[in-house]
Amino acid sequence: MSTVPERRIVISGAHVATVNAAGAEHPGGTVVVEDHQIVSVGPGPAPRFDDGVPTEHVDGRGHLLTPGLVNTHHHFYQWLTRGRAQEKDLFGWLTELYPLWSRLDEELEYAAARASIAALLTSGCSTAADHHYVFPAGAGDLIGAAVRAAGELGLRFQAARGSMDLGRSRGGLPPDFAVEDTDTALAATERAIDAHHDPEPAAMVRVSVAPCSPFTVTPELLTGAAALARRRGVRLHTHGAETREETEFCREHFGQTPAEFLDGHGWLGDDVWLAHCVHLDPAAIERIGATGTGVAHCPSSNARLGAGIAPVPELVAAGTPVGLGVDGTSSNETGQLGTEIRQALLVARARRGPAALTARQGLYAATMGGARCLGRDRELGSIEPGKLADLALWRIDGPLHSTIADPVAALALGALPPLTLLLVQGHPVVTNDRLTRADAEDIAQEAATAAHRLADRAGPS
Ligand SMILES: [Zn+2]
Repeated sequence: MSTVPERRIVISGAHVATVNAAGAEHPGGTVVVEDHQIVSVGPGPAPRFDDGVPTEHVDGRGHLLTPGLVNTHHHFYQWLTRGRAQEKDLFGWLTELYPLWSRLDEELEYAAARASIAALLTSGCSTAADHHYVFPAGAGDLIGAAVRAAGELGLRFQAARGSMDLGRSRGGLPPDFAVEDTDTALAATERAIDAHHDPEPAAMVRVSVAPCSPFTVTPELLTGAAALARRRGVRLHTHGAETREETEFCREHFGQTPAEFLDGHGWLGDDVWLAHCVHLDPAAIERIGATGTGVAHCPSSNARLGAGIAPVPELVAAGTPVGLGVDGTSSNETGQLGTEIRQALLVARARRGPAALTARQGLYAATMGGARCLGRDRELGSIEPGKLADLALWRIDGPLHSTIADPVAALALGALPPLTLLLVQGHPVVTNDRLTRADAEDIAQEAATAAHRLADRAGPS
């Protein structure tokens, strides 16, 4: 027996890119949403309904309809420190920014999260992971602040509770005042799972366990974090193989590549996704693929820091689920996810030629690839009956797109199209490029105030 839905949304006339296993597309297709789920997808006009369920019709003509985009890597707090360390590589950039970040508190994190989420939603992103790894003593509930911001603005959220316990005095990169002790970090991570993780298929919030990187954590933290995640049935996330300097650090300290080091501590597997994976040898690519480890590809951030270009075609060929990530906005000031599709195509082609990554492979990475990284491919990432109603409706008949021959190329190669509608869990959270639940100007003001306060706390640099 099926229950009667409370409401229905019918989107018709759009070019529907389903991103299902067959890659089906329906020019002038129709998608029907009831409550929080997609109930039908197909070619042709909208079916007639006379069952009394309140039904909203959305005219999708001149639009591309895609699954809501999935962001696999971010650091919301970095919204407050954008435009700094502009010519630095990763280690120089981190070293310049750690002192600022160590003054973060709950109130500033909330302002940063709201601004980061606003940029994500208005660029078509319906689900995002946020990797937060700076927990100054006395800063308050930083994970709770991000969860609250996501809930208020309507983003589906995966809070990756990060950690660092390897300060400079013990051979790590971060200053000692920016790290936690191992047991404190693990206990706080478990508390975040208790407080926020929802294992249900329609969950709006999940929590992952996410020590920061090989050069900021001890082997004890890595091992303990993996055990915690597997005991609690949550996913594992960390940075890996981002820069040449990281590879040198791992060789010097552990006599291993970053991939070997992670592998040796239980950090490759189909419940793990790694950010970056730029510097991999062929053995690492094969091992990452064979273990089903996901990769969050962050092309803009990697380019901004001069880190290099991840071997995405090779990773995909090896069987790796590859998603896209904005990364923190101190190394990718746009904060937009929609534009990362184009960026991924361009860097892959600059490296490997014009067929290295197609428009549809880019869209797949931004949707299903991301959903697979986050362990949510059964309920997100494609437009199919039974999946959650996270949908992005892009206008492609306007001045910047009307002559682009292929609707998917309009998104993947053209300018970021206007976003007519973003549904998350069946709710409109963006209409005509505007947030429905908050004022972007207010968010911008609050974030600017927070950024000034953070800078003032740090004093003159
Ligand atoms: Zn990152």
